[in-house]
Amino acid sequence: MKIADAEAYICHFPLTDPFYPSWIPGLPLQNNSCIMLRLVTDEGIEGACAGMAFTQEWKGVPDLIKLFLIGRDPFQVEDFIKVLRGAKVIGFRPWFIEVAFWDIIGKAAGQPVYRLLGGSRDRVKAYASTGELRDPETRAQDALRLVEEGFTGIKLRIRNEDPRVDLAVVEAVRVAVGDDVEIMVDANQAWLIHGFAAYPRWDLKRAMYMAKELEELGVVWLEEPLRMNDYDGLSILRRSTSVAISGGELNDDLDDFREFLTRGCYDILQPDVTFAGGILTCRKIAGMAEAANVAYNPHTWTNGLGLAANLQLMGAIPNCTHCEFPYDPPGWVPEGRDAMLAQPIAIDGEGYVPVPSGPGLGVEVDWEKVRAHGEKIS
Ligand SMILES: [Mg+2]
Repeated sequence: MKIADAEAYICHFPLTDPFYPSWIPGLPLQNNSCIMLRLVTDEGIEGACAGMAFTQEWKGVPDLIKLFLIGRDPFQVEDFIKVLRGAKVIGFRPWFIEVAFWDIIGKAAGQPVYRLLGGSRDRVKAYASTGELRDPETRAQDALRLVEEGFTGIKLRIRNEDPRVDLAVVEAVRVAVGDDVEIMVDANQAWLIHGFAAYPRWDLKRAMYMAKELEELGVVWLEEPLRMNDYDGLSILRRSTSVAISGGELNDDLDDFREFLTRGCYDILQPDVTFAGGILTCRKIAGMAEAANVAYNPHTWTNGLGLAANLQLMGAIPNCTHCEFPYDPPGWVPEGRDAMLAQPIAIDGEGYVPVPSGPGLGVEVDWEKVRAHGEKIS
């Protein structure tokens, strides 16, 4: 089997309401923006993937992609990973493209990818991953609504200048939802986007102080408390607290994760298959983590197709405990998040996300909608 054709679109799917991500302070998003790729084999099998985009930064790149993709056997994933490593050297993060190969492989086999790579589970416990900074009272109300909708876990952003404000938000939510709902917190300190508005920059002492306070509030994990390569700081922090320390969503390839595991930096690894190495590399990282008795709950906050790709990995591996379900109404809701899919991804009646069970990534891309909101660049 060979890849015979490739199409690429830069898409801007409008959001119903502006969304204010805490990790890009000062820059409200009006669109869910991404690059969508559609590969077609000589046997007529289609594979899809989506990569993050802010504006038009991927323009020009598809020609390069085409150069390396046409004529390639989609089953030779290891060989293609070498191409992607090369592409990284010349300046872009291409891992999402590998996901389309797995979409093709799964469709050729008539199976969802998770069943080809381990088949651990058919559904994963969801937590509602919120993204904006809101005051304690508002967040407490939000949390009650999320519990009513069926979520058994909620992630809060703690990225205020004053740590006491962050703690007040967590405390208000804990009081509102009681002890049975899981609370996770994300400081988003691993990678900082600078230039639009102020944000706090944590050091080890602040992280240790917060972890101690969060122990009292029964928080399940503290995410990205320090910079993405602060191996020593993370390892000291992890040993100082009973709150699980998680991170690694934007770390890259096997080397970073070997380092995290050898140095004991994290209780939970979170590489996103679209950012960190593709599905195959992340499957390997999951095995490395399993051997170290470390969980692997991937980051999923890109878009619906990215969530579907990460869900396939979650379904495959034994050491995944939770699925990040990006959800923060009114700005970030499944309709906008999953705009490129024929059907948005939803939780079931018990607060779990079913792993999409169709062949490949398990979901259907609505190419009409992609073309309606996308500019064809290749
Ligand atoms: Mg995160």
